[in-house]
Amino acid sequence: MHRVTLIPGDGIGPEVTSAVRVVLEAAGAPVEFEAVLSGQEAERQAGTPLPPAVFQSIARTKLVLKGPTYTPFGGNYRVAVERPGPDGKVGRRSYPSVAITLRKELGLFVNLRPIKNYPNVPSRYQDVDIVIFRENSEDLYVGNERQVGDGAAEAIKLITRAASERVARFAYDYMRRVGRRKITIGHKANVLKLTDGLFLKTAQEVGREYSDIVTEQRVVDALCMELVIKPETYDGLLLTNLYGDIVSDLAAGLVGGLGVAPGANIGPDCAMFEAVHGTAPDIAGKDIANPMAMILSAVLMLRYVNETQSADRIEKALCDVLAEKRKVTRDVGGTAGTQAFAHAIAEKLRSA
Ligand code: NAD
Repeated sequence: MHRVTLIPGDGIGPEVTSAVRVVLEAAGAPVEFEAVLSGQEAERQAGTPLPPAVFQSIARTKLVLKGPTYTPFGGNYRVAVERPGPDGKVGRRSYPSVAITLRKELGLFVNLRPIKNYPNVPSRYQDVDIVIFRENSEDLYVGNERQVGDGAAEAIKLITRAASERVARFAYDYMRRVGRRKITIGHKANVLKLTDGLFLKTAQEVGREYSDIVTEQRVVDALCMELVIKPETYDGLLLTNLYGDIVSDLAAGLVGGLGVAPGANIGPDCAMFEAVHGTAPDIAGKDIANPMAMILSAVLMLRYVNETQSADRIEKALCDVLAEKRKVTRDVGGTAGTQAFAHAIAEKLRSA
């Protein structure tokens, strides 16, 4: 039995994570959840969106299934934690969001986001099958900003050889393991010659050690254009943190939207699974959010702990429900609610 810390999160988070529980239970997946409060409700109750109980649970389980958590736009919102750092000494650190805090504090250095077409999910493209490897620990996305006088602000983009090499090595090893053929490194090294230049050079050096995998590079703006024109020609994408965030949503749009894009954050001794989407405040509480992205994130989690059979069964049941198109949410062309979609998958699993 795998114990998993469950963070239902904010907005549509509780709806889509409860859908996951329905499906995992019907599959008989050997998973036991420890639900913990994090996000806006934790902030109201405990004065922080990430109370120590969250880290205590993760220290036991080393596995997290996380619903999205809300972050205000602008202002000076920070999530503060007081915990032992990499040197073992307790220190106080703060980050721009709950998700970034968890990724940084848990050492989850890569964000893995598979993007592919599912049967009957309306999309402008077919045959898209891409894996995004996003560096998860540095770059502009860690939100290291400061005000410069009254009328200006700056953000620091730090890129290191160590973090670039770590994510590149993970990406190439992953591609080799699953029999994929090509990695495209996205960058802006024509302008950001030192930072993106270092990421590109380091990733290319790692790539030279993997003669079975083709390495190519694209300036990230041209990459976005080509992804829209011919997404089926891409295989693995290796990106820094901010470009990885933006390209992930673009890629989700190629296969039917944010409702269908799962993700995993992986570190040396801990992993956290979460969908690409956020809290979707516009549809929260209405039972219309698509639970697919969260269910597929749980499938990634099952594969990570080698529960391949449960993972395959769930993915097949999901595909069967999609193929019938009767009990799917409206973003993928149906009229069913979040829970009805999950129960239809559960039904398929029970009758299989
Ligand atoms: P969003 O992903 O929440 O929503 C963007 C659009 O996609 C909305 O129209 C929404 O309705 C739709 N959408 C998202 N998920 C869907 C689903 N499962 N089914 C159907 N439609 C879906 O992005 P946003 O509006 O920019 O962000 C809202 C909040 O979420 C912000 O506070 C943001 O910081 C947060 N966020 C959190 C995470 C995380 O916790 N990892 C990730 C992204 C955004």
